[in-house]
Amino acid sequence: MSHSTILERYNQTFSTDKEFALQANQFFPDGVTHDNRYTNPFPIYIDYAQGSRKWGVGGKEFIDYWSGHGALLLGHNHPQIVEAVTNQMQRGTHYGACHSLELEWADLIINLVPSAEKIRFTSSGTEATLMAVRLSRTYTGRSKILKFAGHYHGWHDAVIPGSNSPYDMLISGVISPETTLISPPNDIEAVENYLQRDNDIACVILEPTGATFGEIPTNGEFLAQLRNLTREYGVVLIFDEVVTGFRVSPGGAQGYYNLDPDLTTLAKIMAGGLPGGAVTGKAEIVDLISIEKHPNTKKMPHPGTFNANPLSASAGIQMLTIAQTGYPQTKANQMAEILRDGLNEIFDQHELDWACYGEFSGFKLLLGHGDKTLSAVDFDAYQCHYRRLKGASNPDLVKTLRCGLLLNGIDMAGGGLTTAVHTEADIQQTISAFDQTIQEMKMEDLIN
Ligand code: PMP
Repeated sequence: MSHSTILERYNQTFSTDKEFALQANQFFPDGVTHDNRYTNPFPIYIDYAQGSRKWGVGGKEFIDYWSGHGALLLGHNHPQIVEAVTNQMQRGTHYGACHSLELEWADLIINLVPSAEKIRFTSSGTEATLMAVRLSRTYTGRSKILKFAGHYHGWHDAVIPGSNSPYDMLISGVISPETTLISPPNDIEAVENYLQRDNDIACVILEPTGATFGEIPTNGEFLAQLRNLTREYGVVLIFDEVVTGFRVSPGGAQGYYNLDPDLTTLAKIMAGGLPGGAVTGKAEIVDLISIEKHPNTKKMPHPGTFNANPLSASAGIQMLTIAQTGYPQTKANQMAEILRDGLNEIFDQHELDWACYGEFSGFKLLLGHGDKTLSAVDFDAYQCHYRRLKGASNPDLVKTLRCGLLLNGIDMAGGGLTTAVHTEADIQQTISAFDQTIQEMKMEDLIN
């Protein structure tokens, strides 16, 4: 039996990836093109993907739980999406003009998202929240936004403060951080105090199932209270459904909880795995972009080279046509539940104070909740202080677990998302890979 450590085996097995990573370090800060892809000691490089799987440059196969950062509800390369995008590619990728696909795409979204009256396309989720915040400011004539600790809405100035632990940290380069107010999550009294004290708040924005798709979960009761409160104070309520849109249900979190935000931001699933985003909601607010309705300076400017790009539209139409059946969400949710339960059983068998929690098609790993007597099955994230959830796992364990799981054919980081094409066999293989990796970590005395 080999006595090499997980990290030694990682370096050996992924030697081709390591060569790419060394080159990448010369090009990119930390060698990566997205903060979350930063991996210590170095990231893996993917050659191709299909369904629930992807293959690395050295030929190794992985079950994928990144799921395109949540964009791939139907897994990699769904045949209908591939066909539509391939056909569209031959017909032109950018007309610099209106086209009928944007109508079909908008029609699907407006029919699916309960609060959608009018829509404007963007190129990403970050652009969508940028637009929603600016629309709210234009609509109310106020300047501040209220958001919640841990909730992520993209990386522009208004929303990036408070997204990550330690939550109150000021972000370098952010202009006017004092216009962003950060409230503790799930605390309706704290929100009311803010709204009572300050009549310059334009909007409240949140991820409706909680920070990072439920890493700090939020329930429907809080959402309903927030809806009432914001209405009472004339503050725009923005549901950031970039992840939850079309994933939690065909109508997103608002469809699931039967709520009516003023504005909704969308991206990921809506563009079928290609780049794209949108803001939708009350016509009165979205129409602030209209030159005809607002010929004076109140019109909010909104150009954007890749808005409603035909390739993204062609992919999005196929994705949403399938997503509207409800089947993909039900299947992805079932797979995530089996995975969460199976992992918690394994954690209990190994007597670890680890837990896997989450709702819908998400699962989060907490490595070290601090109570060895608590069964992982009984762990309840709603009972946990938010600072003990997001970003609270032991970083050394996160690193070794990630490397060990990659060696055992699983790609995820701190949790992940399931798709409609993950199978029960995938899930069982994942649970076995965890069992194996935990045994390997125990052999190295990293955990006991
Ligand atoms: N809002 C939420 C809830 C998100 O999860 C993300 C992306 N992870 C964004 C906004 C930003 O989207 P994008 O990465 O497309 O800019």
